[in-house]
Amino acid sequence: MRIVFLGTGTSHGVPVIGCSCSVCCSPDPRDKRMRSSILIESGRSSCVIDTGCEFRMQALRAGITHLDGVLYTHSHADHLMGLDDLRVFSSDGRFPVYGLKSTLDKVKRIFPYAFASLPYKGAPQLEAVEIEEGESFSVGDIPFTLIPVMHGMMRIAGYRSGSFAYLTDVSDIIWEENSRRLSGIRTLIIGALRDRPHWSHFTFEEAVKAARVIGAEKVYFTHINHETGYSDIQRRFAPYAESAYDGLEIEVSDEN
Ligand SMILES: [Zn+2]
Ligand SMILES: [Zn+2]
Ligand SMILES: [Zn+2]
Repeated sequence: MRIVFLGTGTSHGVPVIGCSCSVCCSPDPRDKRMRSSILIESGRSSCVIDTGCEFRMQALRAGITHLDGVLYTHSHADHLMGLDDLRVFSSDGRFPVYGLKSTLDKVKRIFPYAFASLPYKGAPQLEAVEIEEGESFSVGDIPFTLIPVMHGMMRIAGYRSGSFAYLTDVSDIIWEENSRRLSGIRTLIIGALRDRPHWSHFTFEEAVKAARVIGAEKVYFTHINHETGYSDIQRRFAPYAESAYDGLEIEVSDEN
């Protein structure tokens, strides 16, 4: 399977509007981070995890022409607000979006017209597919398991497919529930906001510590803010953990 990082920034994106810090002014294109999302392609099927505000720009940049579904981690604006642009994928029937019931209930409240039984012509027509914590399901031919994680006080969704997992906006792995679900993960994409502690996001150090407990062989940080530049993260954490960047493509095994 191929993973394309569509966005790797925290909720503000990088650069932050109005900020003149060294990272926001960096000439390195890897310091330009849109809101976090990935594209997963199996050859036959493809899907994205989350649709932030820049979903349209990300889809155009990655050359996306078809999707079999969208998986939502949670309903925060930086993961959701591109939903309206899914309309192009529902021209010949309802397009499935997957997530926890708590997430999809909020998505339906924010975008009621996308789930209406008599949709406005041209509006997205989506089908909310509720997934339970720990449940296995497929999008096209891509198998997933939903792994619950804590994001501050909220239980949100991480997703595993084969030996790779995507856990963003995480502040606690809930080890006692997830040890079996996380066993055998080799490639881990994990949210790491910055160096200073944050109540609802891992720091770089906390993310690396969690990755080592999981036993991951390779780690990619995502959901990064403007306090730390790409080259700084690479210097400190590579080769075990690397800073993902917008446009980065990696191959992962689809075997468990
Ligand atoms: Zn976020
Ligand atoms: Zn800045
Ligand atoms: Zn969030």
